[in-house]
Amino acid sequence: MRVSIIAVGTELLFGQTVNTNAAYLSEQLNLMGFDVMYHFVVGDNPKRLKEKLIDAFQDTNIALLTGGLGPTQDDITKEVVAEYMGTDMYLNEDVRYDLVDFFNKRGKEMTENNLKQAYLPVGSTPFYNATGTAPGFALEKNGKIAICFPGPPVEMRWLFENGARQYLEDYVDKKMYYRVIRTIGIGESDLETLLLPVIDGQTDPTIATYAKEGECALRVASQRHSINEAKAAVLETLKEIDDIIGKYIYSYDDKDLNDVVVNLLKEKNLKLSAAESCTGGMFASSVTDIPGASEVFILSYVTYTANSKIKNLGVRASNIEKNGVVSPEVAIDMALCAREKSGSDISISITGYAGPEADTGYSAGEAYIGYVYGGIQGYLKVNTSRNLREWNRKYFVLMMLKTIYLLITDKME
Ligand code: AMP
Ligand code: MG
Repeated sequence: MRVSIIAVGTELLFGQTVNTNAAYLSEQLNLMGFDVMYHFVVGDNPKRLKEKLIDAFQDTNIALLTGGLGPTQDDITKEVVAEYMGTDMYLNEDVRYDLVDFFNKRGKEMTENNLKQAYLPVGSTPFYNATGTAPGFALEKNGKIAICFPGPPVEMRWLFENGARQYLEDYVDKKMYYRVIRTIGIGESDLETLLLPVIDGQTDPTIATYAKEGECALRVASQRHSINEAKAAVLETLKEIDDIIGKYIYSYDDKDLNDVVVNLLKEKNLKLSAAESCTGGMFASSVTDIPGASEVFILSYVTYTANSKIKNLGVRASNIEKNGVVSPEVAIDMALCAREKSGSDISISITGYAGPEADTGYSAGEAYIGYVYGGIQGYLKVNTSRNLREWNRKYFVLMMLKTIYLLITDKME
């Protein structure tokens, strides 16, 4: 079954609000087995909304709309949908009761315009809203179905889960199963080239590659009559993919690298410490984003100046003098000092230029990552050749995580 999503709201066109509702609905609908064909975004304008309804129903049978169900003058979605479907509005007593109750409980006077939210199209199926005042609804006419949600993402999601999902189940004719594989250390074009024998001529499962910042993801998706069939087809393809690019894969179920690394450290009962310069604590922040990081992560020394590397970390001044503060030798020394001071099993460090500027002889985006783990010590040189500070810093953190991942999985070459 083909579906469109129409996000209504002038703030979306201004770029003030990101259209997260469409992303959420798309993901859920695809998982349910619908074919999401279009995303439309339209301002709070009745004429243009009507045009988009016409466009949507030209090619799809179901349109999901978000936004514009509130009490104010610019909330026009409901009225336009009713008019398009050729129905009138009626006052829904249940919604009115809930509205009055909502305001009474908060000790607030209900303004007249709030009553607008209690009107629904005749013949619609209401979805009562426990998270706000505007209900959602589904309206079916002549094989066309419009499903409307309020704009606030919390309310939209709640109404999808507690009303719309069940309503939509009746219209699913195929089941979808997909997995997202995450890889590191290989570019998108190389990945596609390697996987050509699997990708070529495939119609189901479909395989799509996505370049993300500094890494690459692969989505393998199948739509079949039953979920078991779809799952079997995806697992079969995953096996073929694994045979070809297994060494680059760090997650078979769309986990982030920090998540994978923290959980691997936990599994292996290894303690981690770090010494950061140009990432200024971002590495520590990324590791501690993961619940339970305290079981594996001891600390990170954020030593930004050369002097603090000497004074607070214990890096040899002669090393810095001889090799420069951004050098493989200093990176390794930083990692050794961090391990020594913290008593960790594994230690990682970074020294480099986040940009946009770099000292003479270096480029922005150049950094050295030092590591020590058991009897192994070494460094990795990174050079993004970009003068984008934020991008570089994120990339550095990803490369630090990658280094740990390779070390503890014995994949370091
Ligand atoms: P509305 O239901 O149109 O009054 O929208 C209320 C609020 O929900 C807006 O101010 C936005 O912050 C938010 N919102 C509306 N549409 C979307 C959307 N498509 N994605 C994310 N947030 C939205
Ligand atoms: Mg609005």
